[in-house]
Amino acid sequence: MAMKRICFDYQAGYPADQRIVEVMLPYFTEFFGNPSSIHFLGEAPRKALENARMKVAELVNANKKEEIIFNSGATEGNNLALLGVAYRNKDRGRHIITTKIEHISIRNLCKHLEKQGFMITYLPVDKCGVVDPEVLKKEITDETILVSMNYANGEIGTIEPIREMGELTRRKNIYLHVDAVAAAGKIPIDVQKDNVDLVTISSNDMYGPKGVGALYVKEGTKLSPQVIGGGQERGLRSGTEDIPGIVGLGKAAELAKVEMVEEGSKMTALRDRLMNGLLGIPDTYLNGHPTQRLPSNANLRFSYVEGESLLLSLDMEGIAVSSGSACTSKTLEPSPVLLAIGLKHEEAHGSLSFTMSKYNAREDVDYAIEVLPKIVTKLRAISPLTPR
Ligand code: PMP
Repeated sequence: MAMKRICFDYQAGYPADQRIVEVMLPYFTEFFGNPSSIHFLGEAPRKALENARMKVAELVNANKKEEIIFNSGATEGNNLALLGVAYRNKDRGRHIITTKIEHISIRNLCKHLEKQGFMITYLPVDKCGVVDPEVLKKEITDETILVSMNYANGEIGTIEPIREMGELTRRKNIYLHVDAVAAAGKIPIDVQKDNVDLVTISSNDMYGPKGVGALYVKEGTKLSPQVIGGGQERGLRSGTEDIPGIVGLGKAAELAKVEMVEEGSKMTALRDRLMNGLLGIPDTYLNGHPTQRLPSNANLRFSYVEGESLLLSLDMEGIAVSSGSACTSKTLEPSPVLLAIGLKHEEAHGSLSFTMSKYNAREDVDYAIEVLPKIVTKLRAISPLTPR
């Protein structure tokens, strides 16, 4: 019998929805033109580009489609947001506030800016991973130009109180950037109600192709471009647009807007089944917020075992999970997100992140619930950490 292959590590990469792949295909061949061309070949790609812009704008309820800037993905979006605001607004101040649970792309951008004389404040989170707006309020100074935080954390699933943050930053005339990679397409985002100025979105996390994304830039936001060239994307991101990719992102946004709520409730039910099933293993705990969390995420801590050993044993059973963010899996350091919620090093090391997609079935969950307790028992039997 063929071995089961089950993915609970979708955060590292999603398969594209077949409906999305299909709408992309003609833009590789038939409609190959450059959207900047004035002749007839530019027309179809130009229309497709603007249609995709509209769909992404609708997903986040942007006021105008021109507020959407296409790019090569979330890392680039985060670069334009942080470097763009920092460089353009440094005469107003050099203070930026972020949190201790950001993706490595934000963490490394902050380190880079620190070296250039910017002051970065890293906000703490509570044991569920929530940032307190009161704490943000206390850290804002006359020098603060930007607050950057994740909408929801991809690793532990916690959803942040962005609307409360937005009320604060808007009142103080400070830009608010949110990395919404893990949240977009999973929970509704409304940039107008949330009072956010910049939002990073990635196509792949919405079942679109990899290597394409968008940054929402509220009209009037002062940004310095980070990719200089032919002036595409309102001069904020030069370079010939990846039309098939952007068409894919547009379709992903369109589908997400329509299907997100129903998909979310199905996924929540499956996720809860997985979570509750695994929490039945003795000395097993949930990381992140019990309710204010993404429908797709369950992050669990198994005492006395190493996450890496669990991951490898599960891999042999055909189950893919993660012991941290895929982008940081090359290091043996414990996840900074798990340390920020107050876990000890060994507790962080004993944690696994399960990220689900609409392609997971109940049988996947039941298989994990069947296999994991046996692995945990086996590993605990040989672990020096197990109390005897
Ligand atoms: N932000 C978050 C929250 C992410 O999870 C990721 C990775 N998927 C990124 C930014 C960077 O995305 P990419 O590697 O596609 O540029």
